[in-house]
Amino acid sequence: MVVINKSLRISSSSHFQIIDITHDIVAILNEISKDNKISEGIVNIFTKHSTSSICVNENEKGLLLDFEKALKDIVKEKDDYKHDFIDNNAASHIRAFLLGSSETIPIVDGRLDLGTWQSIFFIELDGPRTNRTVDLTFIGEE
Ligand code: ZN
Repeated sequence: MVVINKSLRISSSSHFQIIDITHDIVAILNEISKDNKISEGIVNIFTKHSTSSICVNENEKGLLLDFEKALKDIVKEKDDYKHDFIDNNAASHIRAFLLGSSETIPIVDGRLDLGTWQSIFFIELDGPRTNRTVDLTFIGEE
Protein backbone atom coordinates (compact mmCIF):
# COMPACT_ATOMS: atom_id res chain seq x y z
CA MET A 1 0.00 0.00 0.00
CA VAL A 2 1.17 3.52 -0.80
CA VAL A 3 0.24 6.69 1.09
CA ILE A 4 1.24 10.01 -0.44
CA ASN A 5 0.55 13.39 1.17
CA LYS A 6 0.34 16.55 -0.91
CA SER A 7 -1.23 19.93 -0.40
CA LEU A 8 -2.74 22.72 -2.44
CA ARG A 9 -2.48 26.43 -1.66
CA ILE A 10 -5.56 28.41 -2.62
CA SER A 11 -6.25 32.14 -2.70
CA SER A 12 -9.78 33.49 -2.89
CA SER A 13 -10.85 36.88 -4.15
CA SER A 14 -14.33 37.35 -2.64
CA HIS A 15 -16.33 36.62 0.51
CA PHE A 16 -18.12 33.67 -1.10
CA GLN A 17 -16.35 31.89 -3.94
CA ILE A 18 -16.58 28.48 -5.56
CA ILE A 19 -13.20 27.40 -6.93
CA ASP A 20 -12.95 24.34 -9.19
CA ILE A 21 -9.84 22.43 -8.06
CA THR A 22 -10.40 19.29 -10.20
CA HIS A 23 -7.56 20.09 -12.61
CA ASP A 24 -5.12 20.81 -9.75
CA ILE A 25 -5.84 17.39 -8.24
CA VAL A 26 -5.57 15.63 -11.62
CA ALA A 27 -2.22 17.39 -12.20
CA ILE A 28 -0.90 16.18 -8.82
CA LEU A 29 -2.15 12.63 -9.49
CA ASN A 30 -0.38 12.70 -12.88
CA GLU A 31 2.79 13.95 -11.19
CA ILE A 32 2.62 11.10 -8.63
CA SER A 33 2.05 8.59 -11.43
CA LYS A 34 5.50 9.34 -12.85
CA ASP A 35 7.24 7.50 -9.95
CA ASN A 36 5.04 5.46 -7.65
CA LYS A 37 1.85 5.10 -9.59
CA ILE A 38 -1.37 4.56 -7.66
CA SER A 39 -3.50 2.47 -10.00
CA GLU A 40 -6.31 1.61 -7.58
CA GLY A 41 -7.18 3.57 -4.45
CA ILE A 42 -8.70 6.76 -3.14
CA VAL A 43 -7.78 10.38 -2.61
CA ASN A 44 -9.11 12.32 0.37
CA ILE A 45 -9.33 16.08 -0.16
CA PHE A 46 -9.50 17.96 3.14
CA THR A 47 -9.67 21.68 3.82
CA LYS A 48 -7.74 22.83 6.90
CA HIS A 49 -10.10 25.76 7.57
CA SER A 50 -13.41 25.85 9.44
CA THR A 51 -14.85 28.57 7.19
CA SER A 52 -14.37 26.70 3.91
CA SER A 53 -15.56 23.40 2.45
CA ILE A 54 -14.79 20.75 -0.13
CA CYS A 55 -17.74 19.59 -2.27
CA VAL A 56 -18.35 17.54 -5.41
CA ASN A 57 -20.96 18.73 -7.87
CA GLU A 58 -21.58 20.02 -11.37
CA ASN A 59 -19.68 23.06 -12.64
CA GLU A 60 -22.58 24.79 -14.35
CA LYS A 61 -22.68 28.57 -13.93
CA GLY A 62 -26.40 28.83 -13.21
CA LEU A 63 -26.30 25.96 -10.73
CA LEU A 64 -23.41 27.53 -8.82
CA LEU A 65 -25.42 30.76 -8.47
CA ASP A 66 -28.46 28.72 -7.34
CA PHE A 67 -26.29 26.94 -4.76
CA GLU A 68 -24.97 30.27 -3.43
CA LYS A 69 -28.51 31.62 -3.14
CA ALA A 70 -29.80 28.48 -1.38
CA LEU A 71 -26.91 28.47 1.10
CA LYS A 72 -27.51 32.15 1.93
CA ASP A 73 -31.27 31.49 2.29
CA ILE A 74 -30.63 28.59 4.67
CA VAL A 75 -28.02 30.42 6.79
CA LYS A 76 -28.69 34.13 7.19
CA GLU A 77 -25.62 36.40 7.03
CA LYS A 78 -26.58 38.09 10.31
CA ASP A 79 -28.65 36.80 13.21
CA ASP A 80 -28.26 36.71 16.96
CA TYR A 81 -25.07 34.65 16.52
CA LYS A 82 -22.96 34.24 19.69
CA HIS A 83 -19.75 33.66 17.69
CA ASP A 84 -20.11 37.12 16.10
CA PHE A 85 -19.23 38.65 19.49
CA ILE A 86 -15.73 37.11 19.39
CA ASP A 87 -15.04 36.62 15.66
CA ASN A 88 -17.49 38.25 13.27
CA ASN A 89 -18.02 35.24 10.96
CA ALA A 90 -20.61 32.89 12.49
CA ALA A 91 -22.55 32.54 9.21
CA SER A 92 -19.37 31.35 7.46
CA HIS A 93 -18.76 28.66 10.10
CA ILE A 94 -22.39 27.48 10.08
CA ARG A 95 -22.34 27.15 6.27
CA ALA A 96 -19.12 25.14 6.56
CA PHE A 97 -20.74 22.87 9.19
CA LEU A 98 -23.48 22.06 6.67
CA LEU A 99 -21.16 21.42 3.72
CA GLY A 100 -18.40 19.46 5.46
CA SER A 101 -14.62 19.62 5.23
CA SER A 102 -13.65 16.77 2.90
CA GLU A 103 -14.50 14.51 0.00
CA THR A 104 -13.04 11.12 -0.92
CA ILE A 105 -12.79 10.21 -4.60
CA PRO A 106 -11.98 6.75 -6.03
CA ILE A 107 -8.91 6.25 -8.22
CA VAL A 108 -9.41 3.60 -10.90
CA ASP A 109 -6.74 2.70 -13.47
CA GLY A 110 -4.60 5.59 -12.19
CA ARG A 111 -7.29 8.17 -12.88
CA LEU A 112 -9.80 10.08 -10.74
CA ASP A 113 -13.05 8.18 -11.16
CA LEU A 114 -15.41 11.17 -11.21
CA GLY A 115 -18.76 11.07 -12.99
CA THR A 116 -19.04 12.92 -16.29
CA TRP A 117 -20.64 15.98 -14.70
CA GLN A 118 -18.74 15.98 -11.41
CA SER A 119 -16.11 18.51 -10.41
CA ILE A 120 -14.31 19.01 -7.10
CA PHE A 121 -14.81 22.42 -5.53
CA PHE A 122 -13.10 24.40 -2.80
CA ILE A 123 -15.84 26.58 -1.33
CA GLU A 124 -14.59 29.82 0.21
CA LEU A 125 -17.07 30.95 2.85
CA ASP A 126 -15.11 33.75 4.55
CA GLY A 127 -12.86 35.32 1.95
CA PRO A 128 -11.00 36.90 0.50
CA ARG A 129 -8.05 34.89 1.88
CA THR A 130 -4.55 34.48 0.52
CA ASN A 131 -3.39 31.33 2.24
CA ARG A 132 -5.90 28.51 2.27
CA THR A 133 -4.46 24.99 2.54
CA VAL A 134 -6.11 21.84 1.24
CA ASP A 135 -4.49 18.50 2.13
CA LEU A 136 -4.59 15.64 -0.34
CA THR A 137 -4.03 12.09 0.94
CA PHE A 138 -3.61 9.50 -1.77
CA ILE A 139 -3.97 5.90 -0.56
CA GLY A 140 -3.77 2.91 -2.84
CA GLU A 141 -1.98 0.07 -4.54
CA GLU A 142 0.78 0.52 -7.09
ZN1 ZN B 1 -14.77 32.45 13.52
